[in-house]
Amino acid sequence: SAIPSIILNDGNVIPQLGFGVFQVPADDVTSVVTKALEVGYRSIDTAAVYGNEEGTGRAIREFGLPRDEIYVTTKVWNSEQGFDSTLRAFDASMTRLGLDYLDLYLIHWPVPKADRYVDTFRALQALKTQGRVKSIGVSNFNPAHLERIIGETGEIPAVNQIELHPRLAQRELREFHAGHAIATEAWSPLGQGTLLDDQTITSVAAAVGRTPAQVIIRWHLQLGNIVIPKSVTPSRIAENFDVFGFELTRDQMDAINALDNGSRIGGDPETLT
Ligand code: NAD
Repeated sequence: SAIPSIILNDGNVIPQLGFGVFQVPADDVTSVVTKALEVGYRSIDTAAVYGNEEGTGRAIREFGLPRDEIYVTTKVWNSEQGFDSTLRAFDASMTRLGLDYLDLYLIHWPVPKADRYVDTFRALQALKTQGRVKSIGVSNFNPAHLERIIGETGEIPAVNQIELHPRLAQRELREFHAGHAIATEAWSPLGQGTLLDDQTITSVAAAVGRTPAQVIIRWHLQLGNIVIPKSVTPSRIAENFDVFGFELTRDQMDAINALDNGSRIGGDPETLT
């Protein structure tokens, strides 16, 4: 099953379905990422703050594919924001990953109170100019933060990775992204598992003969989101990748869209420090 691609505003291409490793323990991450690569995932999402870059990089290197066949994302943590400290944080991440270039580097949170995200983005621009990272983007940014980056640096982030699942469908932010050619990447796409016993989801799953997780991932794909579900369970890692052999109807999409009640699982971008 070929993974669809999303073309970013800088011309680079990212697999629409990837694998996230938030909360995967450092001791387990090499075997978990290896399993994901065996199943067919070609995009891995980590972050400095996850504490598992080293084992993630080991799995990618030891899997043996040409480097350009695996898409790797990591993120600069809040405490490292600022121009020079971001350059240092990038070097440290790359040393842990053991890779000579990165596909996508994200600012993990805007931290508006610290007011350092514009300088942080300028560091990302420098790294891109140097060829050390192919694409640069942000995570958890609201429209006002995006407007400021664009206004002050003249560059539009390639990606905004945001909390997005059927209970937080982020319609307005997705429309803002579309208007600026920013790709939407969904984190906690399964609502960290809390959506899997929802009655609407389970009834659509029964109707299409698929699992609840597959239905939710399919909903993301049909919305056009980049989606990065996480699991440490081999059967679920495979299940979450087996989403290209069926489609949801317009009515099924609408039924899932109706679950949006604006509820967050994670932090609020305006206040998280
Ligand atoms: P998720 O929505 O992917 O849910 C993962 C959980 O769902 C698993 O731990 C498991 O409990 C359950 N699950 C997964 N597949 C299942 C299946 N097939 N059947 C039954 N249960 C299943 O949550 P997540 O890990 O928070 O988000 C995915 C990725 O997004 C992360 O790993 C990370 O890479 C990224 N993320 C980024 C941010 C950010 O601030 N940028 C924040 C959170 C997560």
